[in-house]
Amino acid sequence: MTASHKLSPPERLRRLHDLLEEAYGPQHWWPAETPFEVIVGAYLTQNTSWIAAARSIANLRAADALTAQAIHELPIEQLKALIRPSGFATRKAPALKAFVAMLDSEYGGSLDALAATPTASLRIRLLALPGVGSETADAILLYALAHPVPVVDEYLRRIAVRHGLATPAAGHKGYKQLADLVRAAFAADPGAAQVSLLNQQHALVVAAGKAHCRRFPECKGCPLHSDLPFGIPASQDIPNLFSKPGVRFRR
Ligand code: SF4
Repeated sequence: MTASHKLSPPERLRRLHDLLEEAYGPQHWWPAETPFEVIVGAYLTQNTSWIAAARSIANLRAADALTAQAIHELPIEQLKALIRPSGFATRKAPALKAFVAMLDSEYGGSLDALAATPTASLRIRLLALPGVGSETADAILLYALAHPVPVVDEYLRRIAVRHGLATPAAGHKGYKQLADLVRAAFAADPGAAQVSLLNQQHALVVAAGKAHCRRFPECKGCPLHSDLPFGIPASQDIPNLFSKPGVRFRR
């Protein structure tokens, strides 16, 4: 055990955030030119890599189709063809159409009007759309609409479980547990800083997850290794010690 294990789980998560920030610096998320492009990216990156999503976004950009109006007017088969590189086009194309239809009919096509909706009711509205789960809704809220909500993903779950910060349940309950943990970690920070802190928090977790905290973690050289409860174990030992096999969030 290290001195950091005398801290509460939120205090430790906040410390891990500081370690990642020190190691990786500002992440400048989300990689997009407009808020609408963030929303499109949040849909397209579901169940696939960002590289694949970026190919679809490049296709949409080349077709001048990265606006709500353009997606609305694009024939569905053409939209499916443009977003094919990111997979699940038969599900993602109608989902994108449903989002722009909602934006048009309920908010006059204005993302500013959408963003002005209170967070709780806006989250419920987004979750009611086809193809929108908790992670997508929260990514849209935080990165496109600047609402202070945590984004929980598989990388955060791995880090929290492997460092003994939480034992999240499967599905929505576990998602909420981890979101509450992140909220508590930043609760002492000023309200005005929450959006930028949560923006950076998720981006840093993804950076650490991609570089080190993969299915089989590479703890050596990871900025968070000093926080491991029992030092640096052999990489294959960590899932056995801390993880719950079979618990997987939808991405
Ligand atoms: S790779 Fe190892 S040290 Fe890094 S976050 Fe994952 S479990 Fe922790």
